[in-house]
Amino acid sequence: KLGNETAKAELGRAAWKLFHTTFARFPDKPTKDESRALKSYIHLFQRLYPCGECATHFGELLQKYPPQVSSRSSAAAWGCHVHNKVNERLKKELFDCSNIGDFYDCGCAEDEKEGGT
Ligand code: FAD
Repeated sequence: KLGNETAKAELGRAAWKLFHTTFARFPDKPTKDESRALKSYIHLFQRLYPCGECATHFGELLQKYPPQVSSRSSAAAWGCHVHNKVNERLKKELFDCSNIGDFYDCGCAEDEKEGGT
C-alpha cells in the first residue's frame, strides 16, 4: 500500500510538471486549431490518466472548470487553479498562482520565436 502511494505521488509530480510546462509554452496568441488541440489534450489527459481515482476526480473538476485555452496566460492560470483544487482536496498547501509565469521552464528558450520571457 505504501509502495502504491509513493508511485501515485511520483506519477502525479511528473504529470503536473508536464501539464504546467505545456501551458507555459503554449502560444500567447494561439490559432483556433492550437486552442482546439490544447483542449483535446487536456480532456484526453484526464480520460487516459493512469490513476483511475485521480482521473474520476479530475473529470469532475473539468466539468466545473472548463479548460481555458485562449492564450498562454489563461491556460497557465487555469492549470494552476485546477491543481490547487486537487491540492485542496488532498489537504496540501496551495500554490501562489501569481508566480506561475517564472516557475515552469522547459529548458528550450532558444525555440522561442517571440520576445516573451
Ligand atoms: P504535487 O501536487 O505533485 O505538485 C508538484 C509541484 O508542483 C509542487 O511541489 C509545487 O512546486 C508545484 N505546484 C503545487 N501546486 C501547484 C499549482 N497549483 N500550480 C502549479 N504548480 C504547483 N493523488 C491522490 O492521492 N488522489 C487523487 O485523486 C489525485 N488526483 C490527481 C489528479 C491529477 C490530474 C494529477 C496530475 C495528480 C493527482 N494526484 C492525486 C497526485 C497529487 O496531485 C500529487 O501529484 C501527489 O500527491 C504528489 O504531491 P506533491 O505534494 O509532491 O506535489
